Amino acid sequence: MDYDAIIIGAGISGLYQLYRLRELGLRVRVLEAGTGVGGTWYWNRYPGARFDSESYSYCYSFSAELLQEWDWTEHFSPQPQTLKYLNHVADKFDLRRDIEFSTRVTAAHYDDDARGWMVTADTGAQYRSRYLVTAIGPLSAPTMPRIDGIETFAGEAHHTARWPHHPVSFDGKRVAVIGTGATGVQAIQEIAKTAGHLTVFQRTPNWCKPLKNRPIDAAEMMRIKAGYADIFRRCEESFACFLHTPDPRNTFDVSAEEREAFLERLYEMPGFGMWQGNFRDMMTNPQANAVISDFIARKIRQRVSNPEVADKLIPKNHGFGTRRVPMETNYYEVYNQPNVLLVDLKETPIERITPNGIRTTAAEHPFDMIVFATGFDAVTGSFDRIDIRGVKAARLKDTWRPGIATFLGVLVRDFPNMFMLMGPHTALGNIPRSIEHNVDWVTGVIGHMQKFGLTRADAMPEAVAAWTEYVRETGQALLSNQVDSWMTGINSNVDGKQVRSMVRYSGSAPAYREWCRKVASGGYRELAFA
Ligand SMILES: Cc1cc2nc3c(=O)[nH]c(=O)nc-3n(C[C@H](O)[C@H](O)[C@H](O)COP(=O)(O)OP(=O)(O)OC[C@H]3O[C@@H](n4cnc5c(N)ncnc54)[C@H](O)[C@@H]3O)c2cc1C
Repeated sequence: MDYDAIIIGAGISGLYQLYRLRELGLRVRVLEAGTGVGGTWYWNRYPGARFDSESYSYCYSFSAELLQEWDWTEHFSPQPQTLKYLNHVADKFDLRRDIEFSTRVTAAHYDDDARGWMVTADTGAQYRSRYLVTAIGPLSAPTMPRIDGIETFAGEAHHTARWPHHPVSFDGKRVAVIGTGATGVQAIQEIAKTAGHLTVFQRTPNWCKPLKNRPIDAAEMMRIKAGYADIFRRCEESFACFLHTPDPRNTFDVSAEEREAFLERLYEMPGFGMWQGNFRDMMTNPQANAVISDFIARKIRQRVSNPEVADKLIPKNHGFGTRRVPMETNYYEVYNQPNVLLVDLKETPIERITPNGIRTTAAEHPFDMIVFATGFDAVTGSFDRIDIRGVKAARLKDTWRPGIATFLGVLVRDFPNMFMLMGPHTALGNIPRSIEHNVDWVTGVIGHMQKFGLTRADAMPEAVAAWTEYVRETGQALLSNQVDSWMTGINSNVDGKQVRSMVRYSGSAPAYREWCRKVASGGYRELAFA
């Protein structure tokens, strides 16, 4: 074997996994497609990119020294600062010496005789290792829309997740943004500040909530540093690892006045409180959800001066919180600007992109620049882009075709010694909190194997069946699993993603951790070792 472990990806998951496996004394290599560390925060350099998680709840918690030496400057950190932070982490722990950049893994094949993986990169290099850890990101494979003529556009064109490393100016330009998901919303409110004219092409409006970001001064940062233990404890106890967790009351337990006052408070509160800290039945009771959606709809109508435009911005096909909630700062007010036009693609679909711009069924719009905020082939997309084969050369893609099946979202039967970080069926939420837990658990399994001289770990079929059923069960009652979104495996721009599937675990993070804890403390009886 060339290495004990190959880790694919140098985002938050891959960096921490490298750190932990080094602690075990393993020879580790990280293969990363980008030219630098940071994953999401390396690729997504579009204007306005920032956290929706509170900065101090998102950062790594494993090093007290790191926590004490890093100052966050905003409650919701902008992308450049986050990238700086992750570079600082890489330098502080001397991680770069084990990372190969500009190296995209194209194939990973399991060899049962050697009990290891043969990993092939686009550079032509091959690597043999005992363990394979995929840290390839739930939102890292960008998708372009399927529009005729897309390649013929003669102006500037950028996908938000492949944003250039040089500054992009919108000054005086005619700019189009396609897409109004969490990224589109962040980009639109920023681009509208300087573009000569901005046209937003919207297929599905989302329920957006004010972010209420503000700077952190030195005194506040000192208080945050003193309170880190409490911050991480709160994240650990909450449903989805955020600082916000559902209110114990149901929507109709309180009077209409009390409800309205509570919703007003949540609306004014920074961050995801309106989504993650709302009445506990918001995500399961359609009537409760309708009341909250109606509250947000009223806010949109108040903030957008043209009632027809406001109506177009109000979602009709899903309730508040059932898709990823974009966080905004004056997003709705953008549509009151004279230089901004909203085009509703449900009314006037795009016919084609021309060298000059975009033609809908109603008009020809000339542009200097098109920004594609069209998101990702989520969760499984980064796996589908690698030819991953397990025992008897079975392809992972084929194994999952009838439905994703995993053990704890980490192991897949017949793909021995492969460990997934932030893969399908794992707890996501405030993701770094889940990453640290996942990495620690994987490190535990690998440490166990090293200790007892074991060379092969696979998930037992019964364990896979039990976990996969639990994922299905916990997701069943959720309204979010009854609408089309990346969380239910839908992407109209990707072949084979037209039917809803259970791609993520939607139960609570504490329950997830409890499963993992029991497996570890029971000596990993759910895994077959050899
Ligand atoms: C714009 C945006 C904002 C977000 N905001 C938040 C937020 O506020 N809160 C939150 O909790 N989460 C947020 N997320 C989710 C975010 O993805 C996670 O928080 C976290 O960064 C995931 O880290 P990761 O290391 O698992 O994956 P990533 O950061 O996606 O890193 C994966 C890495 O793997 C590499 N890779 C993939 N395939 C290959 C291959 N075949 N070969 C070599 N390298 C490969 C990629 O280049 C990438 O560097 C956001 C995501 C986006 C896109």
